[in-house]
Amino acid sequence: MSCRNIVVLGATGSIGQSACRVARELSGRVRMVGMSGFRNIDRLAAEANSLRPDALAVPDAAAEVELRAKLDYKPVAVFTGPGGLEQLATWEGADMVLVAIVGTGGLRPTFAALEAGKDIALASKEVLVVAGELVMSAARHRGCRILPVDSEHNAIFQCLEGRDPVQVRRLILTASGGPFRSWPEDKMRAVTRQEALRHPTWRMGEKITIDSATMFNKGLEMIEARWLFDVDIARIDVVIHPQSIVHSMVEFVDGSVLAQMSHSDMRFPIQYALTWPDRIAGSLPPLEWARLARLDFEEPRYDVFPALALARQAAERGGAAPAVLNAANEVAVAEFLAGRIAFPRIWQIVTAVLEKCGHRPGGDLEALLASDLEARGLALAEARS
Ligand code: NDP
Ligand code: MG
Repeated sequence: MSCRNIVVLGATGSIGQSACRVARELSGRVRMVGMSGFRNIDRLAAEANSLRPDALAVPDAAAEVELRAKLDYKPVAVFTGPGGLEQLATWEGADMVLVAIVGTGGLRPTFAALEAGKDIALASKEVLVVAGELVMSAARHRGCRILPVDSEHNAIFQCLEGRDPVQVRRLILTASGGPFRSWPEDKMRAVTRQEALRHPTWRMGEKITIDSATMFNKGLEMIEARWLFDVDIARIDVVIHPQSIVHSMVEFVDGSVLAQMSHSDMRFPIQYALTWPDRIAGSLPPLEWARLARLDFEEPRYDVFPALALARQAAERGGAAPAVLNAANEVAVAEFLAGRIAFPRIWQIVTAVLEKCGHRPGGDLEALLASDLEARGLALAEARS
């Protein structure tokens, strides 16, 4: 494999940081040619000084001044403003764009990158939940690849490689179950921010960590898988696997199951997405089988965690329903993190908003974003009521 030139949108986040580590470990194979940051200009400057990308993007002119003062080299370009991420995503020196912005901020840059013919390494599941059909069709149209970074989807992608889709019976997403996997239902009301942010197996950004605690993360991932692999939602199942070693599975029509396993470290799926179709020897630790002791699997508690059923319903309904579910969840999670609502209010708000505007048709990106905006307004009103 020759060297692959990557732009990272969200270089300062949990995924972005792991991607920068991968680039350092695989220098000569993976080169970071572009990076964006949002609030954390210190960290963006530190990564840029280490990996020396040609192009950078920050939200505004003030952030640009702060960034330039902290850089020890002169980048070719620093983009700012609302279109800055799109300019970075279409940077001519890039082969691939890693989208690792939390929430829907990665939507427009993803479309811009596809329009410019770039392959996408996709971490931001919200992009596919909101506009999966449009994104996949844009990718097909431009002959671009969407390589999944989310560990479950990266696992399924590996298990499916070279297989005929008609031979697939089910996709089985594994879920750690989060910190409250075995908590009694009546303790959920009193869950604190700190407890919800203590994920048992993964270290991630705050939004996805709360999503893991409510199980909305797995709900969003069901919808993400539906679009990535073009499999009907009825054939996508979830199983709880607390050790997070089996990252997901594919069951074939003959009953055989293929699974992908590794330690729970996002550098595994990130590296595979960035170097695909090659496998490159690096420094990632192999599994020590004798020390694993056990791998457990159990049924999700659907009654205690309504997020899974809500996501399935939204996917079945189609149109703008998944975008509405996602927007309401984003607002509810932010309200919970700000200490303004109790933990179970997250799924109660999503349920209420889906009832109010979950029947909107889909349409183009602007129509989906209008439903997203409406759902945000309703969710905020619901949270403050
Ligand atoms: P983080 O919160 O750690 O990082 C988010 C990144 O997005 C940061 O670089 C942040 O910049 C940037 N950002 C935030 N808001 C905006 C905005 N409005 N415009 C532009 N940039 C913005 O999130 P994670 O890395 O955990 O997650 C990123 C995505 O990857 C999510 O969609 C998540 O679901 C998905 N994912 C994450 C996994 C993980 O292990 N973390 C696993 C699988 C999927 P700054 O920090 O400078 O403000
Ligand atoms: Mg995941």
